[in-house]
Amino acid sequence: LAAHIKALPRPTDDGSLVLVVLHDMTALRRAERMRADFVANASHELRTPLASLVGFVETLRGPARDDAEAQDRFLAIMAEQTGRMRRLVEDLLSLSRIEQREHESPTGRVEVGPLLRGLVEMLEMKARPRQVTLTLDVPPDLPTVIGDRDELAMAFQNLIDNAVKYTRPGTSVRVGASRQDDGVRLIVSDQGEGIAAEHLPRLTERFYRVDTARSRQMGGTGLGLAIVKHVLNRHRGRLTVESAVGEGSTFTVLLPDNEFSTASKEPAGVQK
Ligand code: ADP
Repeated sequence: LAAHIKALPRPTDDGSLVLVVLHDMTALRRAERMRADFVANASHELRTPLASLVGFVETLRGPARDDAEAQDRFLAIMAEQTGRMRRLVEDLLSLSRIEQREHESPTGRVEVGPLLRGLVEMLEMKARPRQVTLTLDVPPDLPTVIGDRDELAMAFQNLIDNAVKYTRPGTSVRVGASRQDDGVRLIVSDQGEGIAAEHLPRLTERFYRVDTARSRQMGGTGLGLAIVKHVLNRHRGRLTVESAVGEGSTFTVLLPDNEFSTASKEPAGVQK
């Protein structure tokens, strides 16, 4: 560490004192490297569909100019690639917005039951073509949680969306919520391919995918679980995953209850 101590308290020419700033350079370097990796990954993810679009534009203006059938086919691929770019940019923006307010405690009150019901109804459209059935199990007396409704909706949506994407066709995805001593627990359980144990610790890293081709084919950006992680950080929530290869996965979110949230907000207020 000594080598990184750049500033020591010593008088300057005019007699004032220099401020001493000690940085943990190892942590700073790691953060800097992660940022650089993230920019490289994001650029790479955007460059691939962009290259394909450039190629198809050239083809449409040249060899395929008079071939109506080829034009239809290429335009369909181009629509898919632009959709992929749009999803990626939207997820990048969401992630950056969530990170910006990660240290501000949320103040809204969220009714988890109706929120989940709305999401399940919305995602049924996506589940039906895959012959996936969504079931919802929420008790009527579920307490409200302190939180940001839009962020929690985004996190829960990503978890349910993943279950629908990665479960086997013809199976069901179970969404449930329950009251716990220490808060509200939400589970999303699928009967899909499961995730091998060695991948579990890295799932919430940005752009980490178990099977990149499969994720892309299902329209994934590789940012869904990173978004979930940052939303839960802000809500002092916890995400756990249990999974068995070939059997399925269960993602569990624990959101602390109101009392806990109120009590734990105090020290943050004092620190400000
Ligand atoms: P993606 O957009 O690729 O789905 P996520 O960040 O949401 O990105 O998830 C990261 C990776 O975790 C996925 O690519 C997939 O390999 C794995 N994964 C997430 N949810 C599930 C699930 N329910 N079943 C199996 N694998 C999953």
